[in-house]
Parts: sequence; C-alpha cells; structure tokens
Amino acid sequence: MDLKLKDKVIIVTGGASGIGEAIVRSAVNEGAVPIIVNRSEDKGKELEKELLDAGHQCLFVQADLSKKEACKKAIDETVSKFAKIDVLINNAGYNDSIGLENGSPEQFMESIQNNIFHYYVLAHYALPHLIKSKGNIINISSKTAVTGQGNSSAYIASKAGQLGLTREWAVELLPYGIRVNAVLPAEVMTPMYRGWLNSYDNPEAKLKEITQRIPLGQRMTTPEEIAATVLFTASEQAGHTTGQYLFPDGGYTHLDRAIGS
Ligand code: NAP
Repeated sequence: MDLKLKDKVIIVTGGASGIGEAIVRSAVNEGAVPIIVNRSEDKGKELEKELLDAGHQCLFVQADLSKKEACKKAIDETVSKFAKIDVLINNAGYNDSIGLENGSPEQFMESIQNNIFHYYVLAHYALPHLIKSKGNIINISSKTAVTGQGNSSAYIASKAGQLGLTREWAVELLPYGIRVNAVLPAEVMTPMYRGWLNSYDNPEAKLKEITQRIPLGQRMTTPEEIAATVLFTASEQAGHTTGQYLFPDGGYTHLDRAIGS
C-alpha cells in the first residue's frame, strides 16, 4: 500500500528518542520530511545529521515545549524552511510520577505545562498551515489515560486531556476537512520506559511480569509498530478516520489479561 506521504512535512515532537524517533525514521522511509522537535540538542542534531547524510530531507528544531515561544519557534522554523505543514504529531511527554500523596499543587501545574500545554499551543500555531494543506493531527496519549496507573496524577490528567482534545478538535476542524486522531501506546521499550523499569529492584523480573500479561505474543509493542499505526493514520489511506482512539498494544488494554498467563 502506498501511503502517499512523499514530501509531506510532518512535525514530530520528542522526535529524537523512543517512539518519536521511530516515527521520524519510518517517515523518511516513506519519503516524507520529518521535523524533529526536541528539548535535548545533541540527540536531535545527531539524528538530523544521520538522515541528511543518508540523502533524506529533515530539520531539527531545538525547543523546550513547556514554553509558548518555543512552540511558536518550532512552527515558524518549519514553515520558513519548507513553506508548509501537512501533519502535526504531538508526542513529547514524560511520566514524572506527580501523585496525589507524593506531589504538590505547584508540581502538578508544572507537569501539566510539560505534558499537555504544548499539544494545544502547537496545534494553535500550526492550524493556519494545516487549513491550507488540509492536513491532520495525531496526539500520542497513553493507555494510562483510560486505566489509571497510580502516583501519576498530572501525567494521567494530561494523557486523558489529550483524548478530550482529540475529540474536541476533530469536531471543531470538520469544516476544514482536518482529521484528528489519538494513538495510545501501552508497553513500549524506549529510554523513558527503561528509566521507569530501572526504578525497580529487579527490572528484568518486573519486565517479565508485565510482558506475560500482554495477550498477543506476551511481548512489548515495538516503537516501529507504533510508528506504523501513526503514519497509516496520518496518511490519506485513513482519509475517513477522525476522532478515533487507536490502541496498538497487543490487546493489553481491552482483552482479558488472564488469556496470556
Ligand atoms: P522518550 O524515549 O523519553 O522520548 C520522549 C522525547 O520527548 C525525548 O526526546 C524528550 O526529550 C522529548 N520531550 C519530552 N518533553 C519535552 C518537552 N517539554 N519539550 C521538548 N521535548 C520534550 O519517551 P517515549 O517512551 O518515546 O514517549 C513518547 C510518548 O509516548 C510520550 O507522550 C509518552 O507519554 C507516550 N507513551 C509511551 C509509552 C511507552 O511505553 N514508552 C506508553 C504510553 C505512552 P529530552 O530527552 O530532552 O527529555
């Protein structure tokens, strides 16, 4: 199937690591032009250089997306270099474990600023360009938005809020033909996931405990499998799909986990 993503300009926040990096790498394989927006500069520059050296088109924009000005800069630099935006993939996020007991009102607001504020701000500044291109938006949320996790109030509020924004924007942007969808990963091995796993005394035992409860294949979802779902949904092959929540998670969220054990 041809996804017809050639020369499409695709902004990927958090594009230098984990799921975002997999989306960027899969995008260039489709001939698309990924814009890697990331806070840490070294990883972003390194990935940009590797892709440019391999003959692909891309751009790295360093931005701490908790700041409104940085979000605007990401949009402005994209348009100044490539004159359009076809897809916005809101992906950057971090589970900072700000809970109800282990947290404060200030930490809660700071986490909200880090995790959901930029989903809105980027969409706001990208909108005029998406209207022109009749583009689309994908919000990367999390299965924890619908299951909870414990000790993660601000992260879960952000992830659930991203689902609300997905439905809300899908409605608001119907007149422009702009589709908006959400992808909800569950268990995907990335630097963030590895960091969380390593907080346990025996990370490998914890990993085994988790994977044996994943119904399809008792294994983690790969970042590339998330990327494939995201790029298909962003493509015109998914042209009648909007306001949807997609769970590429081996059945972890919805199937009876007893099936796997
Ligand atoms: P990751 O490996 O930590 O990658 C996230 C990237 O986002 C990092 O490069 C990080 O940059 C960047 N980032 C985070 N906050 C940022 C900000 N405020 N401004 C700019 N860049 C920022 O994490 P991941 O596991 O791929 O997660 C990607 C998305 O998937 C997140 O939204 C996460 O909630 C969601 N998710 C992941 C899983 C999973 O199992 N991995 C499950 C459910 C949902 P720095 O390195 O500079 O911090």
